[in-house]
Amino acid sequence: MKQDIKSMTLAEIAAALLALGEPKFRAKQVFTWLYRGVTSFAQMTDLSLSLREKLDADYYITAPGIARKQVSAQDGTVKYLWRLGDGNCVESVVMRYHHGNTICISSEVGCPMGCKFCASTLGGLVRRLTASEMLDQVLFAQLDSGMPISNIVLMGIGEPLDNFENVLRFLELVNDPNGLNIGMRHISLSTCGVVPKILKLAEKKLQLTLSVSLHSPDDDHRSEIMPVNRTWNVDTLLDACRKYFEITGRRVSFEYTMIRGVSDLPEQAKLLTKKLRGMAAHVNLIPLNRVAESELRPSTREAVAAFQKMLEDGGVTATVRRTLGSDIDASCGQLRRQYEKEETPCRHGA
Ligand code: SAH
Repeated sequence: MKQDIKSMTLAEIAAALLALGEPKFRAKQVFTWLYRGVTSFAQMTDLSLSLREKLDADYYITAPGIARKQVSAQDGTVKYLWRLGDGNCVESVVMRYHHGNTICISSEVGCPMGCKFCASTLGGLVRRLTASEMLDQVLFAQLDSGMPISNIVLMGIGEPLDNFENVLRFLELVNDPNGLNIGMRHISLSTCGVVPKILKLAEKKLQLTLSVSLHSPDDDHRSEIMPVNRTWNVDTLLDACRKYFEITGRRVSFEYTMIRGVSDLPEQAKLLTKKLRGMAAHVNLIPLNRVAESELRPSTREAVAAFQKMLEDGGVTATVRRTLGSDIDASCGQLRRQYEKEETPCRHGA
């Protein structure tokens, strides 16, 4: 069985090459080629032919195909639907911000978490992505779009903390100065609230931003839209966030989707203020993107503004997320589903 070389760290590649009798500096050559987006060992032209053949016998290089690409005429947002080696598809979105281009990447094919408002979880989890498949989204989006990417958010399809080991490996790879060299402070990881993994992540003391999808401060409403809340409820989750801050010194960011009659009630703004008071936190209010399969409706603009004001008046920092790429349906999970319905080429349960 060939091994996935792009999921290996520079040190691991060096050890493998040493076993093949190659000097240490070769590893850097191989590593650099991988991050230039080569798709075969034959393209690594500064290695001897015999080494290229040896590598090809033991390893493979992942490279996704572009199943679909959409560019927003409004704001230049680019959305990719990638076809992975086994035929499954995932999405990424590249957005232009004043602080640099940001890519939103997927961490799993589908998602096991079952949030009621989310398109990514409708078919459940198909499989977790490898580190190389996460890395490829950044590498090939950058190569194809010509947009240098300086920021990464793990907010696409999947629950990153359900794919903990591979996500950590991806973070280590993307951070390597010999590769993409993207600093941890330029990376955000979003979770629906898998508490034991939040605490495990805290122990790694990474300088990334942890985003927590809260969407309601009361257990009744949160459990209704997010099944994860039945395992770890709001107070347990917020305790974990406080611990995360204590251990890492990094302020936690909360995502709060505004759903009409479910998460936008004035008493919820009051309760949220009470629960977050004194905490190093930031709330990002996200207008709900309508998902065809769901009855949930977005809050009115007035309700969002009123909710934000109540938080701010209560001393909680809150912003309303700007919508980018609305003309290309840029919220993650939707392109994959649409494509599956039209052409059914994305394989399931391989
Ligand atoms: N599984 C992770 C990351 C993926 S989702 C998590 O739950 O955080 C990224 C964000 O988009 C989450 O906050 C999620 O709740 C939100 N989201 C999902 N579907 C949405 C929709 N239809 N409208 C608005 N936000 C949505």
